[in-house]
Amino acid sequence: MVLLEGKNLNKCFNDKQGYTNALKDVSFSLNKGEVLGVVGESGSGKSTLLRVVSGMIPPTGGSLLYKGEEYTGKKPRKTGEFLQVIFQNAKSSFDPRMTMEKAILENGRGKKDRAEILELLKLVGLEERQLSKRAGELSGGQCQRMSIARAFYSEAEILLCDEITSALDVSTQARVVELLQKLKSDGKLSAIFISHDIALVSMICDKIMVMKDGSCVEQGTAAEVIGSPKDEYTKLLIDSAIRQSV
Ligand code: ADP
Ligand code: MG
Repeated sequence: MVLLEGKNLNKCFNDKQGYTNALKDVSFSLNKGEVLGVVGESGSGKSTLLRVVSGMIPPTGGSLLYKGEEYTGKKPRKTGEFLQVIFQNAKSSFDPRMTMEKAILENGRGKKDRAEILELLKLVGLEERQLSKRAGELSGGQCQRMSIARAFYSEAEILLCDEITSALDVSTQARVVELLQKLKSDGKLSAIFISHDIALVSMICDKIMVMKDGSCVEQGTAAEVIGSPKDEYTKLLIDSAIRQSV
């Protein structure tokens, strides 16, 4: 079943620095239970794509559909019913006045399951006492992990993840990846997963989209894109990932 679709998405920014065409005719589809990886160099439009898909910013052109129904132009208040975003810079995604416990509970649609919250905290390597803290009292990495716990607690059907493991140390990163893999094997995870780490993407993604200068230059199953890349830029990305890992 197709959960989420983007059709010919475009996004232009026009500000003091000039005109940027950050998304050029990008299309994708995400099935239930699937993880779509998005890779590409810095500035290629990955975060813009997620912000458009989540409704934080409207596309300049194109359409967005959830289960076949168009939701283009809907704001996060509405899209939050079916998707959750975990940002690269998690600190700014918390209300500075709110304790972590309140922030997590608020994301649970009335659910009050402290045992589940504690379980999630353990998974992301945090402690109960940190629930009473506000974003300003936690480090960037701790906020990152809280935002992962908060998103999982929501049980939203779709997770949009923007470089969520890049600020984490290796062991926490491994735990988060393990959790994602478990949710996936239970059929509970449908996600778009942005990362510059191709090895990680190949571990948890079914499909991969490669972006460059706002365009999708290649899209296919993870095996196709990594095993036999067609595009020159994809080949370069994979070659440099292999070089970094040896
Ligand atoms: P990535 O996440 O792949 O690093 P981004 O989506 O953040 O790339 O950025 C894509 C392009 O859009 C960049 O050239 C960036 O400078 C530009 N851009 C992103 N957000 C804005 C904005 N709010 N205003 C103007 N330009 C932006
Ligand atoms: Mg980005």
